[in-house]
This record gives sequence, structure tokens and C-alpha cells, in this order.
Amino acid sequence: MKLSLVVPCYNEAENVRPFQDAVISAFDGCGYDYEIIFINDGSKDATHHNLKKLYAEQRCPVKVVSFSRNFGKEAGLYAGLEHASGEYISLIDADLQQRPEIVRDMVKILDEQPEYDVVAAYQDRRGEGKVLSFFKKSFYAIINRISHVEIRADASDFRTFRRSVRDSILEMGEYHRFSKGIFGWVGYDTCFIPYTACKRNAGATKWSFKKLFNYALEGIIGFSTAPLRLATYLGIISAVAAVVYLIVVILEKMIRGIDIPGYATIIVLLLFFGSTQLFCIGIIGEYVGKIFEQSKERPIYIAKETLTYEEDKD
Ligand code: UDP
Ligand code: MG
Repeated sequence: MKLSLVVPCYNEAENVRPFQDAVISAFDGCGYDYEIIFINDGSKDATHHNLKKLYAEQRCPVKVVSFSRNFGKEAGLYAGLEHASGEYISLIDADLQQRPEIVRDMVKILDEQPEYDVVAAYQDRRGEGKVLSFFKKSFYAIINRISHVEIRADASDFRTFRRSVRDSILEMGEYHRFSKGIFGWVGYDTCFIPYTACKRNAGATKWSFKKLFNYALEGIIGFSTAPLRLATYLGIISAVAAVVYLIVVILEKMIRGIDIPGYATIIVLLLFFGSTQLFCIGIIGEYVGKIFEQSKERPIYIAKETLTYEEDKD
């Protein structure tokens, strides 16, 4: 098997067949074999039903992994990688925003340029609002500054890589998966190519602003301990400030005698240090929570049903 296409699907009932059609026509006459691995991430619509039909037809080799509930795209990608038998593996969305023709180009680059292990597509034009784009830019600026992994701002999950890269990604068994960080962490030589995201074929995006914000926090907590250090710095700064203020107070008392009642100062300081402490405890709590969840060693996903074609049953 030359190429495995890993396709996470969550409520993509109207998209899976057009997606498969697009793949078949894009790879028509390519001269190598490929398989499509659909991961049904606990969809609530007819996705499962439609995928079973595609599986029964086997117009091209199709595998279907169905989760017991919605585990998220990252878990879907993990399951897809586990089931991929191709020499190259491609991650692509089911909504046809990412054209399968580009995957063919990616395969060509990997074939012709052995120095590259990964071909990743980045969006050259994003049709997003200014606010969202500002937040995304800030997020990438922050995470690249405070973590040791390099994450390209406009890169997406849309990429094709060699089997060795897939093995490395699977070795990272963390429960909270932030794939952009994982790709950066495993390294390898990456060739970036531009692409323009098309409009969604059908259905709606699953990303709300709140989800994106939480995803960004996940990325920062997962790939950097800098926020913990922030607590240390804040502690040092306020300790120094406290000592300075202590000296001021003592001097004032010695020079001017009994001082004026400092009601406002006390309230402000109380509130300030109270909130700083809560903030720092919050940061520590985030990490403790991650440790807690990771220590339970729960599986990244649970597959209710796995359908593979005959030749691949090993
Ligand atoms: N997806 C998934 N599980 C989820 C959310 C999304 O498998 O919980 C899949 C979805 O079906 C699609 C891909 O991830 O194939 C990207 O999702 P979406 O199109 O909503 O994201 P966007 O393109 O808007 O960033
Ligand atoms: Mg999409």
C-alpha cells in the first residue's frame, strides 16, 4: 500500500460520499494504490450509515473505525494513524475544504525529494474575520516564544508524511493531543506548500470561538511550562515590592510618627495580591489537572467497530 488517507469525520453525512468521489477522481491513473481510513468520531447524524455503505461498495480500499462517542479530531487522527498501512500517510478533512488533488502533489514531492519526510500545506489566504485572525496570530506568537517546539502559524493538520514520521507520532501517547505541537515536537524535514482552503462542501464547522480558545490553552499547557514560571516571577516581583514598601512604611513611621490610616492602600493591595494568588493557583491547577488525567492512563479513544478489508487483516 502506497498511501493511506486518514479522514476524521464528525457529523459529515453529506460529505463522505462526495469526498470519496473526489479522491477517486483525483487519484485516477496515478499508478499506485491507496486506501481511505474514515474515522467516525461518534457522529450523531447518518455518517455511520453512509460510511458503512462506502465500506460495502469498496470502490477503493476503505476502512472504517467507529468510536463509541465523540472523542475529538485529535483522537480520530491517532486512530487513523494506527490503522494506516501505507508507506505514506495523509491527514485530510472530510468536508472537501482540502482538495485531494493536493495530496497527489504531496505524494509527488515525497517521491521526488527524498530529503523531505513531511509535506505540510499552509493556507495562503484565510477567509476569517479580523478578530479571530488577531487571536490566532497572538496565540502562535506566544506559543512559539514560550515553548521549545516550532509551530508554523498558518500551517494546518493537512499534511502527508512518511511512515517513520507516523511511527514517531504514535509513540507520543499523551492523552491531551495538540497535533500542531506534536508535529513540531517530532521534527523531521518538512516541505511547506501553500494551499487555499475551499468552502465547506456541506454542514457546519465544529469550531466555535470557545472551542478554539480552549484548544489554544491546551496547546500552551501541553507544550510549555512557562506559565508555571510566570507564577515564580510574579512571586519574586511582589516580594521585592513588598520589602520596598515595608521600608517606606517604617521610615514614614519613624519620621512622621503615627501615620494616616491607609484604608485605600490596604484594600488595593489585598485585592491585588489575592487575585495574583488565585491566578497562579489556577495555572498550577491546569497542570495538575493534566497530570491527573494522564496518570489515569485512559485510552485515547474507544472503537466500537472497526471495518477493514480482507487483504489487510493481519
Ligand atoms: N472532526 C472530528 N471530530 C470533532 C470535530 C471535527 O473528527 O470532534 C473532523 C470534521 O469532521 C472534519 C475535520 O475534523 O473532517 C475538521 O473539522 P471542521 O471542518 O469542523 O474544522 P474547520 O475546517 O472549520 O477548521
Ligand atoms: Mg473544515
